[in-house]
Amino acid sequence: MEAVNCDICHSRQFDVVRQDRWVSPNLSQWYPVLTCVCQDCGHVYNNPSLTADEIREFYRGQKRESFQVSRGESKGLNAADAALLTSHAGKGDGKRALEVGCYTGYMSHRLKEEGWDVEGLEPNPDSAQVARELFGFHVHECMLEDYETDQRYDLLFMGGVLEHVRSPTEFLLRVNQLLNIGGYLYVRVPNLDDLEYDTAADLFILEHLHNFSSVALRMLFEKTGFETLTTTAHEKFPRSFISIGRKIQHQDSTAPFHLKNQKDQVKASILEYNRRIESERGKINQKLKPLLRDPKPRVVIYGAGSHTEILLRNTLLSDLNLVALVDSNPKKWGDTAFGFKVQNPEDYDKGQADAVVISSRAFQEEIYQRIQHWEDESVQIIRLYDLESSRFAHE
Ligand SMILES: [Zn+2]
Repeated sequence: MEAVNCDICHSRQFDVVRQDRWVSPNLSQWYPVLTCVCQDCGHVYNNPSLTADEIREFYRGQKRESFQVSRGESKGLNAADAALLTSHAGKGDGKRALEVGCYTGYMSHRLKEEGWDVEGLEPNPDSAQVARELFGFHVHECMLEDYETDQRYDLLFMGGVLEHVRSPTEFLLRVNQLLNIGGYLYVRVPNLDDLEYDTAADLFILEHLHNFSSVALRMLFEKTGFETLTTTAHEKFPRSFISIGRKIQHQDSTAPFHLKNQKDQVKASILEYNRRIESERGKINQKLKPLLRDPKPRVVIYGAGSHTEILLRNTLLSDLNLVALVDSNPKKWGDTAFGFKVQNPEDYDKGQADAVVISSRAFQEEIYQRIQHWEDESVQIIRLYDLESSRFAHE
């Protein structure tokens, strides 16, 4: 890892507002995750940050975590994105669009339906192949940094990308080069302005090198040659935050930003968030505590993703008598995670377990429906969240 300056204003002054760490699934390595707020512009970023090599290594070892419905297929979110884009940029009318990080192509396909002539960039060969097979559009198998072309586009679309890059400034400058003057930039990132929606601390993670407030995103647009048309939370998907920009003639300028920074507000909201997460974890521990009785029941974890990693690190889950790990994603079967071989829940011999803990918030009810019949064989099913009280929609 390496120390970094603020990517937006280059300041070296920051306050640490959150300390966490990331542990690899096989427990062999860990990294600190220190969330910092820039003292000058209020931008939120991880410092130290992963080096380029570490990022490559991290994603190589990372399986796409999700539950059957892969991320690119979250149709509701795609539809909301398309509607918002169209309300600002109109229909595609055959103009050229590039989706950066198109994954399995569902969003690109949606853009195509809106009349855009779409290409995708996707570094993961499997996902790129799926996108080609499903939808037949051109997918360049690379990262934006490595994409060389003389082509210019009228729309650059990126959902869940900008928070992962080392330098959003350099990234958007490259994006700017790829756009025609007047071309649109559509960015979706996690919503730092309203942290109430993030209950599992999945914003402040190792691979989110940056987290954006609307103000920081506007500063970044201003710096890289975009006028901001809108910055808004998705109405139906408020965990996601959207910024739409338009390329203007870019002149490098050292002038200070027009926007008032919100560093005190950002700091206060993250500290409040930390308190809330602690309380949320307390509630989870209340649900897990009965599983510590003597003799300890045999517990299966359902969910081999980062949610489980977070729980193992921060709750009583790691103290239970864990006997197996199951997940419905076939790509994970046979892999080792948290010291267990990931198994197909359909194949699992339920006689070996006394309880199963559903380790997912977004898919808790879906998983519950799927394994409800385990209760017929006296396996207790533990749901960690009281979702009736939740106010947010899921993808
Ligand atoms: Zn700064």
